[in-house]
Amino acid sequence: MINAVFFDFDHTLQDLDNAYDVALKTVLVPAFAGAGVPPAEIKNTMNLRWPGLWHRFLAGELEERDLYLYWLRDTLTDLNLSVAEPGLLDLTQRYQTCFGASLALYPEVMSSIQTLIVAKPQLTLAILTNGPTDRQSARIATHGLTQYIALLCISEALGVSKPDRRFFQAALHQAKVTASQAVMIGDHPIVDIKGASAVGIRTIWLNRSDQPWPSDLRWNPDGEARDLSQAVDHILRWMKEP
Ligand SMILES: [Mg+2]
Repeated sequence: MINAVFFDFDHTLQDLDNAYDVALKTVLVPAFAGAGVPPAEIKNTMNLRWPGLWHRFLAGELEERDLYLYWLRDTLTDLNLSVAEPGLLDLTQRYQTCFGASLALYPEVMSSIQTLIVAKPQLTLAILTNGPTDRQSARIATHGLTQYIALLCISEALGVSKPDRRFFQAALHQAKVTASQAVMIGDHPIVDIKGASAVGIRTIWLNRSDQPWPSDLRWNPDGEARDLSQAVDHILRWMKEP
């Protein structure tokens, strides 16, 4: 019996990629228009620089405001583009403002959630996300999700991050369900799928860009979906199981 559905937030419900692209084209490309660096190279360099800084942020070594400042600073250094400190601060703020204003849910998210609710009104829907509590809960509210989502599990508030099994155990406890009664939907093979699988939660890998499952991983998702409506189809099928 399925009594709870857990959603990852970033790259699962919320489209970050589009917001990154808009902020890149609107703020960064015009700022360095004369430098001859192709926008794709700026984007690739930012993608390379992000994981290390994000890791330091999660470890408590960086404040959020420095995270974005350092991200741009390191990216521009790699690209041999120089900006004086006041200009870099201004650029970072404009980039963040544009990025935040461009965030949206993937188009099928609301209808998929409503399909689930119609299928089983007493289902507990939860969002399980890593990140700062204030920012993530504000974005979830801005997108109008609060009316459907009974439970928010956010790493900063819990004091532990996905994929740590304690994060998923806390989510099960707060949702008042056992692992076999829950499904986790997420885009990340390790952060979402490994962590949930490790405590016995059924998993759906949201694979929007049609990537192969990483062959070096020793675990597999229970289902795979190209978008949230396909993920919901899996759940509706599982709900019919005896
Ligand atoms: Mg994600």
